[in-house]
Amino acid sequence: MTLKAYQYSLKPTKAQADLFVLSFGHNRFVWNWALALKSRYYRRFGQSLSKRQLQDQLVKKKNRDRYAWLYQVNAQSYLATLDHLDQAFSDFFNGKKKYPRFKSKSSHWHGYQNPQHTDVDFEQGCVKLPKIGWVKTTLHRPFEGKIKTSTVKLTPSGRYRVSILVDDGLDLPVPSTIEPDLTVGVDLGIKSLAVASDGTVIENTQPLQAALVTLKKEQRILSRQKKGSKSRAKQRLIIAKCHEKVANIRKHLLHQVSNHLVSKNQATSICIEDLHVKGLIRNKKLSRHIADIAWGELLRQFEYKCAWQGKNLITIDRFYPSSKTCSSCGSIKHDLKLSDRWYACDHCGVEMDRDLNAAINIKQQGLKQALEQVGTTCAVKCSPKSRLAQSSDLAKGTEFTQYESAETNARTAHAV
Ligand SMILES: [Zn+2]
Repeated sequence: MTLKAYQYSLKPTKAQADLFVLSFGHNRFVWNWALALKSRYYRRFGQSLSKRQLQDQLVKKKNRDRYAWLYQVNAQSYLATLDHLDQAFSDFFNGKKKYPRFKSKSSHWHGYQNPQHTDVDFEQGCVKLPKIGWVKTTLHRPFEGKIKTSTVKLTPSGRYRVSILVDDGLDLPVPSTIEPDLTVGVDLGIKSLAVASDGTVIENTQPLQAALVTLKKEQRILSRQKKGSKSRAKQRLIIAKCHEKVANIRKHLLHQVSNHLVSKNQATSICIEDLHVKGLIRNKKLSRHIADIAWGELLRQFEYKCAWQGKNLITIDRFYPSSKTCSSCGSIKHDLKLSDRWYACDHCGVEMDRDLNAAINIKQQGLKQALEQVGTTCAVKCSPKSRLAQSSDLAKGTEFTQYESAETNARTAHAV
């Protein structure tokens, strides 16, 4: 079973848009109510309320006259909201995320999920959503398979989108055997986005850098405007559109890179450094560039695209000195600076591009690591961990990976 998310632009009528807004609001209410109840219950009794108990409480609440308005929207979406809250709590307890927060009406992202009963008509170009009906949609990309869920979102720039999760019913292909000739090493960098050991170079267009000037100008206008004024709301929309444009350029670029290196490349195994993105982003000098490139998202794409195509993704240890090692003789050049773009070995005299040298090293190290793990006749499979990550990430739609620093201090301070 492979889950894939498809995102489309919705074109609702005024009445439909009103129903969407109602659904966002009601689901936000359910989230905040459940979060408050769960936190209060824990403080008083030292026990956590289960998802089942919350569901029962919600049914009781809905049956009271005061809360009859909860029936206005798809009741199943509440179950999805409670599911998400449950997930948020397990992420918190596993140290992955911070304590769940209350949702605010003034936040810039709104959404709700329909766990069932979504239908798509490609001929008519519309999507059927529970309690809303058929909504006109730009279905630019067809899919085949069983629809699992649909998530409706309102972006900060005021556009409605639907993300449809589809199960194509096919099993993931069995990963092929690792062969040195069909293995490629990839070095991710800032100047060039990716350099492969076969000589492929993908330049970084730095979309945020280019749009930054415009953004700064618009932001300055915003800062001069009165809070709560109409012109400020208008200006905020302009900035949101600017941000969205940058995000789209970036997403497009990342998909091009991962497609080029995974799907279009003949190599069946790809070696890559296991970069600690969250750690790197704390480096103030580099963080803007790293956030701009979105390495975390690139790695995620590599992972699932490899799994879909039966290719092997070998991640090598992040402490391996791939840049400083000579790919020809193996000697280490300790005085190599970040500004040195050319690698010249003092021992064997080999000279080449710094990133290409690193890519070759990553390939060699990856092959060595793979052989050590499984012996000489190896068919290294994608780790179950990576498959799990794939399905859960996709369930969230194709949103961008948010870089949040997991602060253990905050976790202990909160302790529910
Ligand atoms: Zn050398």
